[in-house]
Amino acid sequence: MVPEPFVTEALVLRIIDLGESDRVVHLLTPSHGRVPAIAKGARRSRRRFPGTLDLANRLRVRIRPPRRGGLAHLEQAVLLDPHAGLRHELGRFALAGFLLELLGRLAPEGAAPADARRLYDFATGSLALLARAAPRAGLRAVLELHGLDALGLRPELGGCVRCERRLPPAAGRVRFHLGEGGPVCSRCIRPGDRTEPVEAATLRALARGLELDLADLDRLELPAPTEAEACRLLRLLLRFHLGLELRSERFLDEIGASGGSPAA
Ligand SMILES: [Zn+2]
Repeated sequence: MVPEPFVTEALVLRIIDLGESDRVVHLLTPSHGRVPAIAKGARRSRRRFPGTLDLANRLRVRIRPPRRGGLAHLEQAVLLDPHAGLRHELGRFALAGFLLELLGRLAPEGAAPADARRLYDFATGSLALLARAAPRAGLRAVLELHGLDALGLRPELGGCVRCERRLPPAAGRVRFHLGEGGPVCSRCIRPGDRTEPVEAATLRALARGLELDLADLDRLELPAPTEAEACRLLRLLLRFHLGLELRSERFLDEIGASGGSPAA
């Protein structure tokens, strides 16, 4: 039986050339999670999918699911929002590219509907924010944290991962266990635990950022040392979960974008 095509909104996460004439487009959808789909003729003729298959575009698409194994087919795409504001500033586009690569690597195919919806809302909310406003210091770390939360990889920020005791308000440096995804208190620490030292104040700042709605994150500003430590901690967590560094993350570091303007 030939599967029926379906129509959905989608964000373009990734585009890969395939042979002389086709492209594979990784789409994030609010109903099916990540969907890699072949766009026949997209490489040979720009008229086949005019102005639609670019990174970070929000589209309405018609997708034909694969018969068995294989790839879905992208049959039609209409541009809904190119997030034009993103494309005028390198720092913003680099940060958007980083979030899209993160989702491209970690968003599951065939996600459960509630998971797919949460990831889609995170992705569209972040891109809308970056398209609207120049990001402030700290936005990168907090957006990344919202992304990990949407992916179900939210770290513990407020208490010991083993005994669940809250960190005392006056806690200074604490030990953060990457594998267990949170701080380990002095009572629970065991010889041989591999932990990273981190200021409890940084964890508190991240927790506050996670409580904010995406649309309000342009009001957030972290002190530079907190921002730097938060970025370092999230990079280590990501490396732990992905096993490698994202290409766009290195680029983001090179242009000195914590989400703000490129470093002079
Ligand atoms: Zn403990």
